[in-house]
Amino acid sequence: MLKSTCHCGLVRLEVPRKPRRLTACNCSICRRYGTLWAYYKHAEVQVVAEPTSMSSYSWGDKHLRFVRCNTCGCVTHWEPVDVKDDSRMGVNARNFEPGTIDKVRVRRLDGASTWKFLD
Ligand SMILES: [Zn+2]
Repeated sequence: MLKSTCHCGLVRLEVPRKPRRLTACNCSICRRYGTLWAYYKHAEVQVVAEPTSMSSYSWGDKHLRFVRCNTCGCVTHWEPVDVKDDSRMGVNARNFEPGTIDKVRVRRLDGASTWKFLD
């Protein structure tokens, strides 16, 4: 099990394992957030936070919402607006302790245009 936490500690996530790969996406939202995504099944991630300590942002077709801490502003994850049994979610790996993901490969995804990897 691996834990992530926002800067102030009010929004914590628990994931079952270290990610095999991280994704740096250049789409209009990810490049601004500066996030590094680790993907999991929605059902295997625990969000440990008061609902009132988080806000979210959706754009475009509004299938996803990007969640952040109300206090320190760190983006913690994205998830589908309508969560289903097989839903996936993205956990911002920037919020893991640095030592835990140092050796995990980062792939650069061209989410802005082709949806292919650039490396
Ligand atoms: Zn916080």
